[in-house]
Amino acid sequence: MSLPIVAIVGRPNVGKSTLVNRLTGEMASIVHDQPGVTRDRTYRPAFWQDREFVVVDTGGLVFGDDSEFLPLIRQQAIVALNEAKVAIFMVDGQIGPTALDLEIAAWLRQQPVPILLAVNKCESPQQGLAQAAEFWQLGLGEPYPISSIHGSGTGELLDQLLDYIPPTDPEITTDEIRVAIAGRPNVGKSSLLNAFLGAERAIVSPISGTTRDAIDTVVERDGQTYRLIDTAGIRRRKSVDYGPEMFGVHRAFQAIHRADVVLFILDALEDITEQDQRLAGHIAEQGRACVLVVNKWDAVEKDTYTINDYRHRVYQRLNFVDWAEAIFVSALTGQRVNKVFDFVNQAVEQHRRRVSTAVVNEVVQDAVNGHSPPATRQGRQGKVYYATQVSTQPPTMAIFVNDTKLFKDNYRRYLEKQFREQLGFKGTPIRLLWRGKK
Ligand code: GDP
Ligand code: GDP
Repeated sequence: MSLPIVAIVGRPNVGKSTLVNRLTGEMASIVHDQPGVTRDRTYRPAFWQDREFVVVDTGGLVFGDDSEFLPLIRQQAIVALNEAKVAIFMVDGQIGPTALDLEIAAWLRQQPVPILLAVNKCESPQQGLAQAAEFWQLGLGEPYPISSIHGSGTGELLDQLLDYIPPTDPEITTDEIRVAIAGRPNVGKSSLLNAFLGAERAIVSPISGTTRDAIDTVVERDGQTYRLIDTAGIRRRKSVDYGPEMFGVHRAFQAIHRADVVLFILDALEDITEQDQRLAGHIAEQGRACVLVVNKWDAVEKDTYTINDYRHRVYQRLNFVDWAEAIFVSALTGQRVNKVFDFVNQAVEQHRRRVSTAVVNEVVQDAVNGHSPPATRQGRQGKVYYATQVSTQPPTMAIFVNDTKLFKDNYRRYLEKQFREQLGFKGTPIRLLWRGKK
């Protein structure tokens, strides 16, 4: 269910992010140019031929010790490598092998992950081969000359990569639905957890999750199994002094990573904060389904307008997840708590939904007929050739066009809006992958 991970490592400035941008294409990410979320933007979905994977840029591996961030960066690289099916080690062909490259190579040889050696900045084919050849000395096998900027050689590199990436099975269905419960401290996560367990009663024993220390709880309801992810993390909050807030966030992010759907808990008595917005951005970016659960509804003084006003405010402030359904509950009184799983089911169904190519193209054609892509001053016009849903969880549409540059952000948002209007997809993010002819 979770996609295979490809880690990209290498020292700073060799061109890692340029390659990541190329691999992930013109990703119409919902969190596009929002400050604040970009910091967490390390995992990005990509595909090559019929395979899907997630690319992680480890963020510039450095081994000197002159910065307080180094241990953190290295730690992140180790985590990324542990998760990865395969890693691309990128070096700079114009500079040639450096001492740091050799050091990283020696370290990588100890890691239990296959490594592909990409020699970047090899724009000229003949020179490139010579430049690449120098890197045999790293002892990591064949160096592949590539140019992240121009794209030359990257196809060969990706073909090699596919040996390590299993084909995507479109029919993957597991019986259980994996649910992460996320939200700021004190919004009522553990109260809700207890309310769920009380309401559903059919609690099975806690089981160990795959991430170290994570304890999941399995609940059954109407014949459907739900795995509530890292419930230990929710409870442990109480007894442990966390120090930096980061740890809790990190833990929540890990839970989201393992989930199909996130129950995003909000406190009806509190304002929505920047932290909530970051969480929303992360959920959207990770492509998880989501249900907004506004808790403590018992304590809100209400009139007929309250719920709509509140709903409006939530969607406005949490626009990254404005496709999610919102439900107003009370863990304290149990009000509507048993409805939460109905919303979970709906969101998961949409998350796994597949729309036929005919329908996808119909939506795109209607959208283009209604509002054609603006032409450039030179009279060049964006053309859409074909569109198809390439994956589910979340629903992802590849849109094949003459030139991606002719489709600006506002047009992309327009098309995404058309997909929502025509096809719904309530509860799940959707993705548009823009692919040019070359
Ligand atoms: P990172 O720090 O490893 O992520 O490197 P960046 O992707 O930010 O690239 C560092 C610099 O190298 C930038 O100035 C890029 O424009 C340049 N660069 C990246 N890829 C290539 C390439 O294929 N050829 C050339 N000549 N320069 C490149
Ligand atoms: P967590 O930190 O997100 O796990 O939050 P808790 O479950 O520990 O709840 C934090 C506080 O909010 C506690 O004092 C709870 O009693 C209170 N609380 C939780 N749910 C509700 C609710 O539905 N209504 C009211 N009025 N208070 C609640």
